[in-house]
Amino acid sequence: MNAVIDIVPAPLQQGCGDAPVLRERGQREVFCGLAGIVWLHRKIQDAFFLVVGSRTCAHLLQSAAGVMIFAEPRFATAIIDDRDLAGLADANDELDRVVTRLLERRPDIKMLFLVGSCPSEVIKLDLSRAAERLSRSFTPRVRILSYTGSGIDTTFTQGEDTCLTALVPELPASEQRSLMVVGSIADIVEDQFRRVFDGLGIGPVHFFPAHHAAEMPPVGPETRFVLAQPFLADTARALELRGAKRLPAPFPFGAEGTTLWLQAIAREFNVEATKFVSVVGPRRERAARALARHRMQLEGRKVFFFPDSQLEVPLARFLAREMGMVPVEVGTPYLHRQLLAPELALLPAGTQISEGQDLERQLDRCRAARPDIVVCGLGLANPLESEGLTTKWSIELVFTPVHGFDQAADLAELFTRPLARRMKLVA
Ligand code: SF4
Repeated sequence: MNAVIDIVPAPLQQGCGDAPVLRERGQREVFCGLAGIVWLHRKIQDAFFLVVGSRTCAHLLQSAAGVMIFAEPRFATAIIDDRDLAGLADANDELDRVVTRLLERRPDIKMLFLVGSCPSEVIKLDLSRAAERLSRSFTPRVRILSYTGSGIDTTFTQGEDTCLTALVPELPASEQRSLMVVGSIADIVEDQFRRVFDGLGIGPVHFFPAHHAAEMPPVGPETRFVLAQPFLADTARALELRGAKRLPAPFPFGAEGTTLWLQAIAREFNVEATKFVSVVGPRRERAARALARHRMQLEGRKVFFFPDSQLEVPLARFLAREMGMVPVEVGTPYLHRQLLAPELALLPAGTQISEGQDLERQLDRCRAARPDIVVCGLGLANPLESEGLTTKWSIELVFTPVHGFDQAADLAELFTRPLARRMKLVA
């Protein structure tokens, strides 16, 4: 087991488990949860996402997801117009008409999400009741659910959390012992993890969400689940309410994070140490070798995270421990202490962690720190670049396959590339 145990976590007192957190409330600079539709509609291949929102929501979706020319689109916006906002029209009647027309025209849709937005929340349109009402007409052909993607007090990765939380009560009940991997990950990563679990003799393994509405995983008291994404706190709670038990672990970013994540699963499923080493060891060593050349470029560099994707804490841990970077501030929209405890324990002691945002104050701190790279949302990147700072869009870290051993070097490259580009510009 030595090759793997070599990278056991640092003792808690050396990490940030109990570190004070700077809590800020003020102007925020984040995307809304509608952004999650961009990756969720690719993941659940027979689902349709109908945003009940404004023209702004429609524009956001189209520019974030691109317009599909050849395929039938699997997301759209039902526009709430001035008559709805003024209460002159019955928005529920109109919604029923839109949904009926859509489902009659598109027999390929097996699951329909009514997605709430800021405007639908402002006019208090009850989409959960609308989903129930419409389900009476369309069940069992189509399952109709609702969740909110509104930008009121939320951040863009929460769209996936609210979507999966809405799905949990729909999951079939099961008494069978099984593993559930929770959170959308790229198909290629899912296949790699499946091969590792097969090698370790762990099964049955289900991924949530599944690719099709009819294949959503079963859940029950014998289900052990592990999060693949750190922004799924409500989904985790909903699964626990169904009796499933969460396996605490760091997230599978980098060679170390992936090893520790697999180790937590292997322990629960009583995998023998020799088997773990023979299956995981070569993969971890390959990833560590691929990371070495990136470490040469990143070691000693300062990184500053603005709060955006909720991936900030695991990424800072990866950059600090495997790339030798110095995280000067790790901002996160929400700090889910319980979910992040194994990550916080691995962060270098003294790292400034901040939760929430007061934009101007945080910008001042960032300028004063003069980090080598800033991880932030799209809206902040250009102004900071014009001030001579190098930036990385946090949304890219969600859209790119970065989990697991084979993607570890790709994850590191997302940080080396902008630094190399900046050096070329300066040269
Ligand atoms: S949900 Fe709110 S924040 Fe998001 S695009 Fe619509 S109006 Fe804007």
